[in-house]
Amino acid sequence: MNTIIFAFLFILMIVDLRSDTVTRPTAGMLEAMMGAEVGDDVFREDVSVNKLELLAAEMFGMEAALYCPTGTMSNQVAIRVHTQPGDEVICDRSAHVYQYEGGGIASNSGAQVKLIEGDRGRLTAEAIAFSINPDDVHKANTSLVCLENTSNRGGGSCYDLIEIQNIRKICDEHSLSLHLDGARLFNALVARNESPQLYGSLFHSISVCLNKGLGCPIGSVLMGEDAFIKKARRIRKVFGGGMRQAGYMAVLGIYALQNQVERLHEDHRHAQQIAAALSKKEFTGAILPVETNIIIFSIIPPYSAEEIAQKLRSKNILQFAISPTQIRMVLHLDITPAKVDYIIETINAL
Ligand SMILES: *Cc1c(COP(=O)(O)O)cnc(C)c1O
Repeated sequence: MNTIIFAFLFILMIVDLRSDTVTRPTAGMLEAMMGAEVGDDVFREDVSVNKLELLAAEMFGMEAALYCPTGTMSNQVAIRVHTQPGDEVICDRSAHVYQYEGGGIASNSGAQVKLIEGDRGRLTAEAIAFSINPDDVHKANTSLVCLENTSNRGGGSCYDLIEIQNIRKICDEHSLSLHLDGARLFNALVARNESPQLYGSLFHSISVCLNKGLGCPIGSVLMGEDAFIKKARRIRKVFGGGMRQAGYMAVLGIYALQNQVERLHEDHRHAQQIAAALSKKEFTGAILPVETNIIIFSIIPPYSAEEIAQKLRSKNILQFAISPTQIRMVLHLDITPAKVDYIIETINAL
């Protein structure tokens, strides 16, 4: 009988490590949603959206904030406000704004990109300084630097604060805007025990995702100065992102910011535990340093990434081969300690 129950549970247990976007709202979030006070946000009458924007801006010590449906829209709105057609945007080769936003920098802003090969997605002030175009009619006008923290393709790597301070100095010297794609910024803040206010003081604009590790179904917040957010609000409307009773979603963001930030530590601990189990396997090559909730590890011959990914999938552990030789796993709030035990036991037995 026990065996049957165990087998049944085993079949039901799907462990989804493909992304931290796969989470479902927690009971607390659904309860908050039922009681949401809403209005038409295009008329600025949605109390809950206004409250979320105020909360985020205060948290980061920034003047204003704008609730957007996705992190992609937040980033693209910011880039549009910071640039003119023909300008050049500096970012890392692996940056989400370049790799995974459908060529939006070109199509939405008419700007081009200068790519830098960073260290696990992180740029240095020196490399940025070297990449700024001279004031020469032949050259595109460099106007914006985009950083990503944590870096997704860098395996959840975090910036050193001192490097960001140096980057801001370079930007000031050359009158460049500095935008942060902070889709997973809270993972970095928790991992490094850093304050949001400090980040707010270093960037002209910051976008954070509520729909990643914080567990909301949708939503992102863009922050900056009043004048920046005023322009951003207009562009958001142009992009089709002016929502109406968005408060039903915004309250989930408020709940997440108030209740689901500190628990990111748990995801980071789980990532360490799983990486430790992986490191003992003969198919595992290099594992990128696990700083937050992402594990990217290499598979060495004669094994292939797809072969190991398939084996894990057959045990109901979902993940991706992100290249012929690399697999990515992402921890999030739906991965309970019991699921982590299951993952580790499955890896051990592979
Ligand atoms: C997920 C992500 C975004 C935006 O994602 P949306 O799915 O559009 O909300 C932006 N930057 C990074 C680094 C991301 O991982």
